[in-house]
Amino acid sequence: MKTTLLIKNANQVVTSRGASGKPLIGEDLKDLSVIEDGAVAVQGDKIKVVGPTAAVLNLVETDESTRMIDASGKVVLPGLVDPHTHVVFGGSREHELALKLQGVPYLEILARGGGILNSVEATRAASEEELIKSGIKYCRQMLAQGTTTAEAKSGYGLTTEAEIKTLRAIRRVDREQPVDLVPTFLGAHAVPKEYKDDPDLYLDLVIEEMLPRVAEEKLARYCDVFCEEGIFSVEQSRRVLEAARERGFDLKMHADEIVPLGGAELAAELGAISADHLLVISDRGIEKMAEAGVIAVILPGTTFYLREDHYAPARKMIEAGVPVALATDFNPGSSPNNNLQLIINIACLYLRMTPSEVINAITINAAHAVGCPADIGSLEEGKKADLVLFDAPNYEYLAYRYGTNLISSVIKNGEIVVEV
Ligand SMILES: [Zn+2]
Repeated sequence: MKTTLLIKNANQVVTSRGASGKPLIGEDLKDLSVIEDGAVAVQGDKIKVVGPTAAVLNLVETDESTRMIDASGKVVLPGLVDPHTHVVFGGSREHELALKLQGVPYLEILARGGGILNSVEATRAASEEELIKSGIKYCRQMLAQGTTTAEAKSGYGLTTEAEIKTLRAIRRVDREQPVDLVPTFLGAHAVPKEYKDDPDLYLDLVIEEMLPRVAEEKLARYCDVFCEEGIFSVEQSRRVLEAARERGFDLKMHADEIVPLGGAELAAELGAISADHLLVISDRGIEKMAEAGVIAVILPGTTFYLREDHYAPARKMIEAGVPVALATDFNPGSSPNNNLQLIINIACLYLRMTPSEVINAITINAAHAVGCPADIGSLEEGKKADLVLFDAPNYEYLAYRYGTNLISSVIKNGEIVVEV
């Protein structure tokens, strides 16, 4: 088979290939395996060769049907992976910004029936078609900004019917636009108002009715739970996650975001693939996650948007050997941002991660956090031809500029799907 697409003369090809096949930890998180004056040859939907331009041109066969991209002055990265989003939801919550600016804390907005419960009402009221339409719109925005794979959670339905509707919508959104979605069932995202006096009764519904339906229709790969004071305790979270594990789901957690309950420790104990947020993770939680290899998915855009002054202790986690990934947490309340390029800036400025660490955290480590490291997250022979070209002379430029979409081209499964 001939080369179908050849990208050549790139200032830099950032491969994020690592050496271990495992999530990058510690000092290795800085290793981007950059090729100067690089090229990538694609056959169909797969990467065939990655290397210096001169070497790649010698190795591959091309003809007049080969699509050529001259990437002079540009940097090529693996397609970005966003490992924590809530991309399918009804409505929007722009009216809450004023409350936040008056200093009303999130848990109080929630207690007043706002916050997440507002999105729950809008999601219940939306038809499946409406959810699909808005989900496609948000995914196209993500794609235009360089994201080629994203995790997508349910969790704004909180009835069996509305959770199934959301997960079916996620499946359709995945099929109807280029961004691949990895589905997560998050029935335990909040206590719906019908159950506010008896959260355990709601969890019975999650465990006895929702989980079997989701498993039967194969609507999700992961099960997640919001472990937080005022939402679900560690013991309640354990109940949901153990039941999910028995039904074959892999596990994720919203953990230690506001109050250090010990969610990180639970994620380590249960062998979750990731624990996410972790602003107030304990030293013991860090140690346990490092030991168990649980990926910390840090969501600094949320901390930024909530105007909190305390970010997740990323440096401490990296130094302790916890694998770190980054995500947007795109959702209608605490993080209405679906642009990973902005996360690059916020992670450098506020988590004090280096540009190289940040890029590995939104490529190869993020691919591990969505369970697809064999297919995506790095530029290597045989992987999916998901690549992004930035109008940037080197990768550090991505951390230096902010607020401008620097995308030049996005290639998904070997096809050019965005060209600026
Ligand atoms: Zn979330």
